[in-house]
Amino acid sequence: SSSLSRFDVIVIGAGPVGLSAVFQCGMLRLRCAVVDALDAPGGQLTALYPEKPIYDIPGFPAIAAGDLVGRLLDQAAPFNPVYHFSHLVTGLERDEGTTPGLWRVRTAKGLVLEAPVVILAAGAGAFGPNRPPLADLEAYEGHSVFYSVARRETLRGKRVVIAGGGDSAVDWALSLADVAARVMVVHRRPRFRAAPETTARLEALAAQGALDLVIPYQLQALEGEGGILRSVIVADLDGARRQLDADVLLAFFGLATDLGPMAEWGLGIERHAIPVSQETCRTCRPALYAIGDVATYPGKRKLILTGFAEASAAAHNAHADCHPGEGLHFEHSTTTGVPSLG
Ligand code: FAD
Repeated sequence: SSSLSRFDVIVIGAGPVGLSAVFQCGMLRLRCAVVDALDAPGGQLTALYPEKPIYDIPGFPAIAAGDLVGRLLDQAAPFNPVYHFSHLVTGLERDEGTTPGLWRVRTAKGLVLEAPVVILAAGAGAFGPNRPPLADLEAYEGHSVFYSVARRETLRGKRVVIAGGGDSAVDWALSLADVAARVMVVHRRPRFRAAPETTARLEALAAQGALDLVIPYQLQALEGEGGILRSVIVADLDGARRQLDADVLLAFFGLATDLGPMAEWGLGIERHAIPVSQETCRTCRPALYAIGDVATYPGKRKLILTGFAEASAAAHNAHADCHPGEGLHFEHSTTTGVPSLG
């Protein structure tokens, strides 16, 4: 096998429910690997509302979503989970040739992990960028078209078109203005949706000629060859076109979720969710569990609290899949239950 270490459980999704499953599994001495398409843990809490207070977590009268994610990571940390971020899981296969059988999880980037149990905590699906509807976009993605910037140095001396009108577009325009050869900001409305202070700085830089605001314009086409961009064609609402000579397009149109790959795993997905038994969180496939927003049963409520209880149920049932024939005598957390605390 190409996996480096053996795990008992692979958790797909590092949202709040996936993170709590790592803790619940850890208490039963089941070691977890966690895979998420996002580049950071927290699922919806990180991607959609990091600063919003949450009022319905027991024990916390109010807690900011980002802080809850931090607490969940701390709680799981003693069990040494291995996290694989920026990995979209695309493949899931069962090998019954061993006892217990093994799930093989594959990601779009070629990572392969194996474990007897998989817990799907996939929420509304994998988070990924909203992609602009442009012909031949795939050919340019990863070469000249990007949805995030890992290191701004890679854009030094480049002519950069930034598309979008929110915080990401405005923040990156400001950040790149003194690194890139030229920054051109394309937005389909005359006003930006970013914080007033940063928008004011953007407009001041544009007034000084330090960058170009191309508004209100929309992306229309890419010109270039072999993934190497030459220019970005934009059009205004009347269809008048402009050609922006550029090396790189950064598109910041927010995040979308996609259940995509899971539709092929034979899980009987109904209305964007996987049916499970409420008692066990088992799906219709062996040693495969679904918990949190992605799991459904009669009366299901999509709350973090609900997902926490489901994580506990899945972990307890997963123990039997990992250790067939061994009883599990464990009910309450104790100081001896958590290794290396303090
Ligand atoms: P998610 O948080 O959706 O995480 C799923 C993760 O799985 C994502 O990171 C995704 O990238 C990853 N993933 C999915 N498919 C794949 C794949 N194929 N490969 C790799 N990774 C994958 N709930 C409350 O209880 N209280 C509140 O106050 C509250 N407020 C909310 C406010 C807003 C604005 C929103 C949008 C939701 C709120 N919710 C609240 C709901 C709560 O956020 C969800 O119930 C919770 O996030 C579900 O957690 P989860 O771990 O199941 O899924």
